[in-house]
Amino acid sequence: MNTLWCEQAWMEPGEIATGVRVECDDSGIVRRVTRATEPAPGDLVLDGVVFPAAANAHSHAFHRVLRGRTHAGTGTFWTWRNAMYQAAAVLTPEVYEELGTAVYTEMVAAGWTSVAEFHYVHHRPDGTPYGEPYDGGPHALELALARAAVTAGIRLTLLDTCYLSSGFGAPILPEQARFSDGTAEAWLTRWQSLRATVAESFPASEVSVGAALHSVRAVDEPALAFIARNLPGDVPLHIHLSEQPAENRDCLEATGTTPTGLLARHDLLSERLTVVHATHLTPQDIDLLGNARVTVAMCPTTEADLADGIGPARALQDAGAVVALGTDQHAVVDPWLEMRALEHGERLAGGRRGRFSPGDLVRAVAAGGARAQGRVPAGLVPGQVCDLVALDHASARTVGSSPAQLPMTATAQDVNAVVVGGELLVLNGRHSRLGLPGPLLAAAIARVDGAAPAEAITAEAATIRKAQP
Ligand SMILES: [Zn+2]
Repeated sequence: MNTLWCEQAWMEPGEIATGVRVECDDSGIVRRVTRATEPAPGDLVLDGVVFPAAANAHSHAFHRVLRGRTHAGTGTFWTWRNAMYQAAAVLTPEVYEELGTAVYTEMVAAGWTSVAEFHYVHHRPDGTPYGEPYDGGPHALELALARAAVTAGIRLTLLDTCYLSSGFGAPILPEQARFSDGTAEAWLTRWQSLRATVAESFPASEVSVGAALHSVRAVDEPALAFIARNLPGDVPLHIHLSEQPAENRDCLEATGTTPTGLLARHDLLSERLTVVHATHLTPQDIDLLGNARVTVAMCPTTEADLADGIGPARALQDAGAVVALGTDQHAVVDPWLEMRALEHGERLAGGRRGRFSPGDLVRAVAAGGARAQGRVPAGLVPGQVCDLVALDHASARTVGSSPAQLPMTATAQDVNAVVVGGELLVLNGRHSRLGLPGPLLAAAIARVDGAAPAEAITAEAATIRKAQP
């Protein structure tokens, strides 16, 4: 049994309580919550304002290497994708374990304590499987990500992704060869083997396996129908949906309906489904997704970065869908900025403020993301997972804010402490086992680049000094 004491804490339905004492059991589940207490000897004291930790509903870990490297010149989502393919080409299991560890450390230090990893790089660059024990066994890249998550202390839902086509049945491109299993049957066979292997090797509270269809572009209609019939019904299933108008146009041409209409045609719309982006929808699409109570993973900083557009998040929630938030390509890995970008998108698109209240934003980033992963949500209610984030309410960014409105002012820089399963994992930006994320990322990105590790970067922040005469 661990006990924590919070100076202030955000509690459902969105109020701030003081002196909150939390008891959690050895499996990291909250058992008792008491308000208006004083800290007792042995309590882990969390100063500031404590929030439920964030659950990342959409990640591609390796996209992190593109941050700050794609802004020269102009372009679209499609030109960005070429740079992404070059990054995918250099991944090996060893490189991806190091990079994944660094990315997940950055993530957990920012306040995300679980992540849905939408993973589609399965095979060697020429498309041949990692099959022999000497090169890591048949699930070499998947298990590299699983170990990375365990090392960083983030809970992982590994969404093993089916990717079969370069567009509505067209053959795969050479740069997509390592994404494809050839057929939906072969993908499902590999998925079942991966699921069994992960279940033998990791506790489900740390690593679990879900599934994803990359998009209706990459999984044609017969394959979609096969997976709809054969994937177990209790498995979280994700899909990129209508991120770009071109996808909608091509889908209409190939199938006579929208991507959402195609999913409905094959009975894929349900509460276990998470649709990612959902940027360009028709009113009928919104009704279908809402009536099925799907989860919608919005990735507002990515959607802005890639010039995708602003999805109808509030309309989807009003129709019955559940909104979650993801960092996708990791141009930003900050739950507070993602929350704010969701509301800012609504304001910019609709000319009205307060479309998502600060409480709505906390629910999206915590409970929404947990739902997308099929996990118990984090929070301060008995039965919830004791994953918590303590925010500094007196930084230059946050001082003066009403504590309940901190989602509209804080950033990851204001995270004082991150607790996972009742245990302190990050204090003042420093991971208890791995140190600061910056040097880990520097070493991993240098390895991806094929460069020597940058020796000038130390474990501490760079200092400013006067040059010697
Ligand atoms: Zn994505």
